[in-house]
Amino acid sequence: MNVDWLAQLSAPIRRDLYFALQRLAGSRIGPIWREFLAWEKLAPGDLDRAVGSRLGQLLDTAIAVSPYYRALGLTRRPRETSTSFLSRFPVLTREILRERFTDIVAEPLRPEITSPDAVSRRRYDWIVVKTGGTTGNPTTVVHDRVQRDWGRATRLFSARQCGHPLGTRYFKLWGSEQDLLQTQMKLHLRVQHSLLGDLPLNAFRAKEADLRRHHSTLLAHPEIDSMMAYVDAAVSLAHFIEQKNLPRPRLRTIMACAGTVTPEWRAVLERVFSSEVFDKYGSRECCDMACECPAHRGLHVNSPNVFVEVVNDRDEACPPGQTGRILITMLNNHGFPMVRYQIGDLGQWAKPGVCPCGCAWPRLQSLEGRADEMLLTEDGTLLSSVFVRHFVGVSLNRQIIRQWQLEQTGRQEFTFRFVAERAEGLEDNLARLKDSFQLALGRGARIEMSRVPGIPPSPSGKQRWIINRVGHPAAPAR
Ligand SMILES: [Zn+2]
Repeated sequence: MNVDWLAQLSAPIRRDLYFALQRLAGSRIGPIWREFLAWEKLAPGDLDRAVGSRLGQLLDTAIAVSPYYRALGLTRRPRETSTSFLSRFPVLTREILRERFTDIVAEPLRPEITSPDAVSRRRYDWIVVKTGGTTGNPTTVVHDRVQRDWGRATRLFSARQCGHPLGTRYFKLWGSEQDLLQTQMKLHLRVQHSLLGDLPLNAFRAKEADLRRHHSTLLAHPEIDSMMAYVDAAVSLAHFIEQKNLPRPRLRTIMACAGTVTPEWRAVLERVFSSEVFDKYGSRECCDMACECPAHRGLHVNSPNVFVEVVNDRDEACPPGQTGRILITMLNNHGFPMVRYQIGDLGQWAKPGVCPCGCAWPRLQSLEGRADEMLLTEDGTLLSSVFVRHFVGVSLNRQIIRQWQLEQTGRQEFTFRFVAERAEGLEDNLARLKDSFQLALGRGARIEMSRVPGIPPSPSGKQRWIINRVGHPAAPAR
């Protein structure tokens, strides 16, 4: 069934239909979205109280209903603030999430969620969320039904911050596995996309013909002037347009996702698309965590849904301007408490104080550690490497591979190194992985699958998952 016509409806009608359908499905996104927006107007003191109360409730629930947290034996001291109580909790690493998954699940859900493969039988309920992450191992978490709606609200809010509030049509330069593998999305998802008004461009397709098609799509729709994009895919498209001296599509706003927005990348996007660029920080397991506002004074943390810490080697708070590890506490996910989750990114706080936009939510100045190198396809265009993480991490890795690295050694030469976790299913998994790489990188690409005992970090001590030794004339390898 073709549902594209939905996207042609007026913005207010699509907005109303979206909320109505969500309500029918059992979601409470309507009231939660209104509550989310109400937080935006809180004065600093009220915000602190609201965050403190939400954080306190989450910590109390964690200790009361999650065996993992209960076993820590922590109790809140008299008159102890929520934030200082929080600082006595251990950091939640990916390893702990992996090893203690079922112990973290809150008691009421434990009979149903007995493994990371659990699926709810009810229509709108908790879901298990798997993410590729950078370790090559899917991090598996649960979002309870309340968190799902808050997560949705964070995404609606980011879109609004970045100039395309719900109902406004926008280009979505995003990774689509369906498109690459030529399978079709489920009907309800197609309906949802049409209502949200996104016009998809596949970021996993980046050969010259694909980029030309993306470019013509942008030009063919002058009525759409916002884009949500993997930042590196948008940069690769911008470089291409500039190099080939093609007419430049004008965009009003670009939401830059899934990577670090360097000043150089921001500049090229602004230059080629005449666009205002908004940095957005999100992940599958923590939804949208922070986003730039039109004042561009850092990324506002989504206070109604996450509590963010930036900590040093001793897990102590870093002052503004000092880079540290980011820890995330999910405030509304009582079914699977995630307290001080070490997401694997580095960041630093902006100077404290209310933003010129009037919002008191804290602001992250910058984020680091999400920079992967781009890969070069057979015809010399640059491809976002997010697709590698996607295929390795989410789609294909079923705890078969433990660690991995993809290195481009020549124009057409690639080496995929992996540390196997178990032999069962390995061969199949590798064959599918290689097929997916081949689709994205080009038929001429020679991909060597190499089993190794371990993957050493680079001389600088940093683990690198994607390495491009070839570079590109327009974007030299970093
Ligand atoms: Zn602001």
